[in-house]
Amino acid sequence: MSPRTKIKALLESGKTDIDVTVKGWVRTFRNNQFIALNDGSTNSNLQIVVDFENTDPALLKRISTGAALSVSGRLVESLGKGQSVDVKATSIEILGDSDPEKYPLQPKKHSLEFLREIAHLRFRTNTFGAIFRVRNTLSFAVHTFFQERGFVYLHTPVITASDAEGAGETFHVTNFDLANPPKTETGEVDFKQDFFGRATNLTVSGQLEGELGAMALSDIYTFGPTFRAENSNTTRHLAEFWMIEPEMAFYDAKDNADLAEALLKYVISYVLDKNKEDLEFLSQRLLDEEKQKPQNERSEMTLLEKLQFCLNNDFERLTYTEAIDILKESTPNKKKKFQYLVEGWGTDLQSEHERYLVEKHFKKPVILTDYPKEIKSFYMRQNDDGKTVAAMDILFPGIGEIVGGSQREERLDKLEQRMDEIGIPKEELWWYLDTRRFGGCPHSGFGLGFERLVLFVTGMGNIRDVIPFPRFPKNAEF
Ligand code: ATP
Ligand code: MN
Repeated sequence: MSPRTKIKALLESGKTDIDVTVKGWVRTFRNNQFIALNDGSTNSNLQIVVDFENTDPALLKRISTGAALSVSGRLVESLGKGQSVDVKATSIEILGDSDPEKYPLQPKKHSLEFLREIAHLRFRTNTFGAIFRVRNTLSFAVHTFFQERGFVYLHTPVITASDAEGAGETFHVTNFDLANPPKTETGEVDFKQDFFGRATNLTVSGQLEGELGAMALSDIYTFGPTFRAENSNTTRHLAEFWMIEPEMAFYDAKDNADLAEALLKYVISYVLDKNKEDLEFLSQRLLDEEKQKPQNERSEMTLLEKLQFCLNNDFERLTYTEAIDILKESTPNKKKKFQYLVEGWGTDLQSEHERYLVEKHFKKPVILTDYPKEIKSFYMRQNDDGKTVAAMDILFPGIGEIVGGSQREERLDKLEQRMDEIGIPKEELWWYLDTRRFGGCPHSGFGLGFERLVLFVTGMGNIRDVIPFPRFPKNAEF
């Protein structure tokens, strides 16, 4: 194969009057003369100028939207508007034809819903090209952030016998013949005969295993897929999503919040720097989309301004109790505009409440701390008031909860007492409790939903559009 230059490198090189070979897919072909070629390295297409008078008409016909080409020619300063350079083609080879009658992606605007149905091809649109380059940069930024700070990337298991939250929203893992599983004498499914000799499921969180790592390595993080069989058809939930879960020994609740805020700012700043063109494109896309909304529903800031705003301002920190007071006194609560009215202390916050705090009241990201212990998990450290735990949720505009975390309960007696109260069998988590028996120490951690981060940074409205092949109720295509 002839050496090929990627379009991004070629455009950034600033060179002209050199011979080049480029390869990519045709976005459009105008007047039998101008090919817009894209190879995914950048949002910008490269314009190829075809000497159509001296090109075989049969070949010209095969240059259609979606076709894969190899083009060799001279890189020259462009005479046209809209691009700085062109390639004057000297040879064009069709690597793969694309029947224009059948190719589902036409050079026009398609709805996001339609593109979800052709997720195998949607990478070839400007919007999805930008989204997945941004997603790539964000994941690299996450690793860079932690690696620069001496965290160890720990691979926690995907198949597990524990349900970290005790929520029961797990996918079972079995190799039984489901039509005819072995039964015990009392007629129940006999998991002792299953592959692992016990009932197992896909992990809902790597946290508990992550904590074990932190109790030796000090600072660890996981970054892997997690699975939740929650039947929530929302724009913020997936059945398979990626989570980043740092766990840190010797961190208290404040250290934990500081780290989470630093991480979010770091990755946003990283992607603003590395994917400027993509983010400008996505920012414009959002502006265009919002033009169809009534004035009062449009964002006050563009996407780029919103990202910048996030970097330049401290996140607002307040306790759950303070938040309840604000919500109780809020106009939508008094005018009964909330679907769930905030009546008193102790109830869980709904997404409408979180969004009110972030978008209307503080108008910036919010870190809510010290929730009632009844609405949080057993492993969160109990505060001295006997009512609350050292939990923190980070709430983002347009998203709601993006991070959930806490200082972990390191005191064995308190932890066991809480497990007894909630009815979590201690025998099953003997290994987790061991870390409290042998050299336990104050420690903290959190989970950041990666797709919620990508959703925020790209300004997209639906989480199904920021993961290549979304998994949600009644859908596992591709
Ligand atoms: P929510 O209340 O939004 O369902 P959660 O309380 O269930 O969130 P955690 O169990 O604390 O969330 O998980 C940590 C993070 O993982 C959340 O802050 C969120 O960013 C992300 N997350 C949780 N569930 C999902 C999901 N189904 N799809 C995508 N991301 C999720
Ligand atoms: Mn949930």
